[in-house]
Amino acid sequence: MFEQFNLLNLTASTKQIVMKKMLLFALLFYQAANAQKTIIYCGKLIDVKNLSVQQGMSVIIQSDTVADIQKGYVAPASGDKVIDLKKYTVMPGLIDAHVHLESQTSPDAMLKRLTQNPADIAFQAAVYAKTTLMAGFTTVRDVGGSGVNISLRNAINKGEVIGPRIFTAGSIISTTGGHGDPTNGLREDLMMLPQLNENVVNGDDECRKAVRQHYKDGADLIKITATGGVLSLEKDGAGAQFTEDEIKTIVETAKDYGMRVAAHAHGPEGMKRAVLAGVTSIEHGTYMTPEIMELMKERGTYLVPTIIAGKSVADSAAKMPGYFPPIIRAKALQIGSVIQGTFAKAYKAGVKIAFGTDAGVYNHGKNWMEFGYMHEAGMPVLECIKAATVNAADLIGDTKIGSLEKGKMADVVAVDGDPVQDVKVMGKVVFVMKAGKVYKSE
Ligand SMILES: [Zn+2]
Repeated sequence: MFEQFNLLNLTASTKQIVMKKMLLFALLFYQAANAQKTIIYCGKLIDVKNLSVQQGMSVIIQSDTVADIQKGYVAPASGDKVIDLKKYTVMPGLIDAHVHLESQTSPDAMLKRLTQNPADIAFQAAVYAKTTLMAGFTTVRDVGGSGVNISLRNAINKGEVIGPRIFTAGSIISTTGGHGDPTNGLREDLMMLPQLNENVVNGDDECRKAVRQHYKDGADLIKITATGGVLSLEKDGAGAQFTEDEIKTIVETAKDYGMRVAAHAHGPEGMKRAVLAGVTSIEHGTYMTPEIMELMKERGTYLVPTIIAGKSVADSAAKMPGYFPPIIRAKALQIGSVIQGTFAKAYKAGVKIAFGTDAGVYNHGKNWMEFGYMHEAGMPVLECIKAATVNAADLIGDTKIGSLEKGKMADVVAVDGDPVQDVKVMGKVVFVMKAGKVYKSE
């Protein structure tokens, strides 16, 4: 029964059958290795790693992966598909490292928090997710909502909903009275509702438990509010809100579960504690001091600037006095306009920057405007794009995204014009491919 298979022992007709079968196998193997490819002809191709623009290139895609990148316009083999983007500038899919896909700014934002059911949130989040992908952002980091964003991520991964690849924090972890305490400013009986309190923690044990619960719920990362914030019903938008030990506990526990920690921070004391405790990124960074910039450089901590969010809330507060409750309006006017100046200093000082916008605090789909604000503050356009590709991927910790190279995800975006000449071109996205699938082609 177990004698070796040997062609010589077979009869002539059996030999013929075996030979035919072997040929068929060889053919199938050959076809699999040379399966239909998609070739994208790029007028210009941005090399985000080397900060250069190449002319007349072909990006060759097989399934969801970049198979090769070649100079010139490669002739297709039979069965290959060609996508002609010779008129456009092509780059890797963009990454926004700070979005809130569940919500979008409106004058009745406070009321919505008390009236929307998870299903209401889910339907609108699906709309914002699609808007974000169509704006050229093939990956986002959702840094906090109700937790519906976890289901949204799963639905997108299954192909049931159209949207970017999502890395989500689930809900934000905060201290009592902190920026992420959803009961701030509410009636006492509403504050007792348990579902409004479950992410509010105090002391090491509760910090540890909250991180573990987030892991169990399906979060990819942890988001904390290290200082006060603008859009919550609390007085101080910048004061420290966790002890350094509490943040250390959060960072260490998150590490156990393979997660990184993003820290919302406006004021310097809470920001410094977060950096010293080992968080991966500081979000906003409004009142960052030169000392904190040095600490961040030493430790490789990223700044995710969100300039557009600061400008947008300051603008709404100035032009529409009734848009925010008075306690928020005062903070929006004070804090919002500072972020761009701080970003300029941090960039100059050499702090690592990852692109992030706080989408949801302004209207989804306008994420590209952040490129303009970063550029205005002194960052060359190609570096802005690098912040939204290579750097954001590094911050997230995904080695398959963030650049167009052999073996990486086929996330491809094209814009109408040359962003190096005019940064506003980043708002003219004509083509979006995520994991080899075309979602937009104009
Ligand atoms: Zn945010």
